[in-house]
Amino acid sequence: MAEVRTPTRDGIPDEILVGGEWVTGTGPVLESIDPANGEPVARIRSAGPADVDRAVAAGLTASADPSWRDRPPHQRARILARMADLIERYSDDLARLQTRDTGKTLAETTALVASAAGTFRFFAGSCETFESEVTPSRGQYLSMSVHEPIGVVAAINPWNSPIASDAQKVAPALAAGNSVVLKPAEWTPLVSLALGRIATEAGLPAGLLSVLPGSGSEIGDALVRHPDVGKVSFTGGTSTGRAIGRVAAEKIMPVALELGGKSPTIVFDDADVEHAVAGILYGIFSSSGQSCVAGSRIFVDQRMYTDVLDRLVEATRALRVGSGTEPGVQVGPLVHHEHRDRVAQLVERARTEGGRVHCGGRIPDDPSLGAGAYYLPTIIDGLTNSAATCQEEIFGPVAVVLPFTDEEELVREANDTVYGLACGIWTSDYRRALRVARRIEAGTVWINTYKQLSVATPFSGVKESGLGTEKGRAGIRAYTRQKSLYFGLNEDPLPWAG
Ligand code: NAP
Repeated sequence: MAEVRTPTRDGIPDEILVGGEWVTGTGPVLESIDPANGEPVARIRSAGPADVDRAVAAGLTASADPSWRDRPPHQRARILARMADLIERYSDDLARLQTRDTGKTLAETTALVASAAGTFRFFAGSCETFESEVTPSRGQYLSMSVHEPIGVVAAINPWNSPIASDAQKVAPALAAGNSVVLKPAEWTPLVSLALGRIATEAGLPAGLLSVLPGSGSEIGDALVRHPDVGKVSFTGGTSTGRAIGRVAAEKIMPVALELGGKSPTIVFDDADVEHAVAGILYGIFSSSGQSCVAGSRIFVDQRMYTDVLDRLVEATRALRVGSGTEPGVQVGPLVHHEHRDRVAQLVERARTEGGRVHCGGRIPDDPSLGAGAYYLPTIIDGLTNSAATCQEEIFGPVAVVLPFTDEEELVREANDTVYGLACGIWTSDYRRALRVARRIEAGTVWINTYKQLSVATPFSGVKESGLGTEKGRAGIRAYTRQKSLYFGLNEDPLPWAG
């Protein structure tokens, strides 16, 4: 079994996983920065185009090898279950590493690591229980529908929740019998590389998982265009997703796109306001707002608007902002200083649009946070839903509050966005909750809760929030090709043209 060097034991080696070997990448150096203090965490020579070719070639060979292709599913399941066990064994290291790489709080990264282990275990179960179907026949034959692996899957992920989003793609793709080339975001390559080491230690045959940190425009694009990549599973921004979709269309290749959002959260006049305020804050400010499902547009019934706004502002001012490693901190830094500056610019634009900034709206003045990529949780109102601030994803700790007077207007405005990822509804009237939930254009609607996610429940976006579904019992199917088989049962030859 290959040696595993976990981040705390040997430091972070400057190696990437290409076709089963740990090698020095042939691309430029990437520097991972701890956004809590701006200090470098690691320098990694990233993948170059030659590494893409090697990883895909190895993936093709490994996925076609009968020792993997024909391995009984319950034996594939054992490897996935071992990966789950190892993720749990190294969970403290993995959570700390991800906190240093992304800035998220340890509580958040610990939960993401646990979710990644759960995802591997869930898809190990899928391996064991995944069935083909015998379909109703209309003649003298036995007909079946079977699901087969695609071959090489490229998994391309953003920087906001690497280990969980890696698991969401790698586990079902391997479970279905594919190989995977994983490309993490340039800003956050470390935890994906650690996952590669875990796969090696778990005994995953060489070549079935490569991890290629590198730029999206070069390495990501080369993977998408590679003729031997049979599917791309992408999570990231809508404009990148659209560009990948165009290439996929040229190749006639299946593609899954999990994209951006501008999700509405709705507070009706009969809501439990204490629960609603807590849920809204968690929905927008956890992960410092860098969450695709962040509830960033908050619609409040006009009759209680001032009361809810005041409570939101007061509770937001009380949030603890600081380093993700400090106990009790709720809002860590943003992933990178560049991203923090972009969020700050978007808040300035909200001001020029006429938005009233009730709290936050600036970098904290605490000198101990001066070197980090911090931005204070921000609440804005005074805008209409058509303002750019209400239409464009900010992907930071910024919420806009909007009043509504009746249900029709509310549903129209909540749906008046190019996105359709998530929605929150706070009400004690379950008839109304169901009625509105069914009319909202979104892949997920939470009622009297927010941002609860289970690997057992399908996840997807509609409109410009995505294409395809991840997770759930059918999640493994997304990484297969369907084939129909007919077994003739005729005692006599087939009649010619008759
Ligand atoms: P991004 O800029 O679209 O990047 C996502 C990934 O794609 C990164 O690994 C990036 O590489 C790579 N990439 C960039 N250009 C590419 C190209 N031409 N071909 C192939 N790959 C390319 O998104 P981000 O800023 O990292 O992430 C934030 C976005 O992700 C937000 O919009 C958020 O809503 C969305 N998101 C969606 C979900 C969901 O499930 N719906 C979940 C999480 C995040 P580099 O970064 O290395 O350049």
